[in-house]
Amino acid sequence: MRVAVPSGRPVVLITETIGAPGMRILEQVCTCIAPWRDGVPDESAVRADFRRADAVIVRQFAVHASDIAGAPRLRVLAKHGAGLDNIDCRAATEHGVPVVYAPGGNANAVAEHAIGLLLALARNTSIADRTLRAGGAYERGQFQGIELAGRTLAIVGLGRIGRRVARKAHALDMHVIAYDPYVATAANDTPAKLYGSFDQLLAAADFVTLHVPLTAETRNMVGAGSLARLKPECRLVNTSRGGVVDERALHEALHRGSLAGAALDVFEHEPLAAGHPLRNAPNTLFTPHVGGITSEAMSNVSRQVANGVVDVLEGRTPDGVANPIVLEQAAAVRRGTSRAPAMKREHP
Ligand code: NAD
Repeated sequence: MRVAVPSGRPVVLITETIGAPGMRILEQVCTCIAPWRDGVPDESAVRADFRRADAVIVRQFAVHASDIAGAPRLRVLAKHGAGLDNIDCRAATEHGVPVVYAPGGNANAVAEHAIGLLLALARNTSIADRTLRAGGAYERGQFQGIELAGRTLAIVGLGRIGRRVARKAHALDMHVIAYDPYVATAANDTPAKLYGSFDQLLAAADFVTLHVPLTAETRNMVGAGSLARLKPECRLVNTSRGGVVDERALHEALHRGSLAGAALDVFEHEPLAAGHPLRNAPNTLFTPHVGGITSEAMSNVSRQVANGVVDVLEGRTPDGVANPIVLEQAAAVRRGTSRAPAMKREHP
C-alpha cells in the first residue's frame, strides 16, 4: 500500500520491523513508510521507495550502491543493529550519506546468547531434547556433557560483545583468552589474555566463540586451515556473521570428528536452505539469527537508531556514525574551511 506523504515532514523508509520505542520517536517528526505493516514486503517495491526517502532504516535488507545512487533525497541511512556488512558504506560515503547504527545496543543480548550456546553445546542440551521428543529408548549416559569451569574459551574479536562474553565466561570460572589484532591490551574490566597469534589461540582452545564483523579480512577466517588447528574436543560458537566461517570446511570437520560440536546463530545465506548439508552435520545446534533479539535489545537499538536518524535530519551529530567523515566534511563546508566538499548531499 502506498502512503500519501505530507509535505514538510521527512520521509523515513523502514524496511523491516523495528522496536516500538524507535517507531514512536520517528512518528513524532517523520512520515514513516513501513511496508512490512502490510505483510511481507516485496523487495523491488521497497527498493523503489528509496527514491522518495529522506532516510532509510534497514535490519538485514541489503543496501547496494545503486540504491544509494538512485535515492536523490536520501540524507541518512541507518542500520537497526551493529553489523554493517549489508550496507555499502563506501558508496554511502561517496554520496555524502552518513550511516548511523546502534553500536552496543544489543551487545548484552548477543553475549548472553553466546554463553547459552556454549552451555548447550557442553551439555548436549539440543540432542537430549530432540531424542526425548522422538520418543525412542535412550540411555542417560549418552548425553554426558562436560563442564565449562576450568576450560579455556577463545574469543575472536574483543569488541563490545567479545568483552561482555569474556566477563560472563570468567564468572563461570572459564580461563579466557582472546585474539584481536586491533586491540593492544585488554581493558582492566576484561578478564582475557590477549594472544598475538590466531593459530596459537585456536590450538589452546576448548571452546571458540566468534565476535568479529564480517569484512574482507574476516571472511572465511575460520576455514579448513583454522579448523585443523583446533583440538578434536573443541566446540565452536558463531553469533557474528555466517561468512566468517567456511561452512563447507566446518561440515567436513564435524563429519570427520576433528571438531566436537558447533552452535551457529548466523549463516552464509539466511534463512538456512532446506537442503543445506550443515543440517545433517553431527553435534550441531542452530538458532535463526536471534542473538540480538530480546525485548531489551530491540528497545535499545530502535531508540538509538531512531534518535540517530532524527539527529541527522535536524542537523545534529548523532552517536554511532559509521562514516563520520561525511558529517565532518559537511561541517567544514558550513564553516567555510573546506573549499572542495567531497559530499554530494546537503546537510543542515
Ligand atoms: P565491535 O565493533 O564492538 O567489535 C568487533 C571487534 O572485532 C573489534 O574489537 C575489532 O577490532 C575486532 N576485529 C576486527 N577484525 C578482526 C580480525 N580480523 N580478527 C580479530 N578481531 C577482529 O562489534 P560488536 O558490537 O562486538 O559486534 C561484533 C559483530 O557481531 C557485529 O559486527 C555483527 O556482525 C555481529 N552481531 C551479531 C548479532 C546477532 O544477532 N547474532 C547481533 C549483533 C552483532
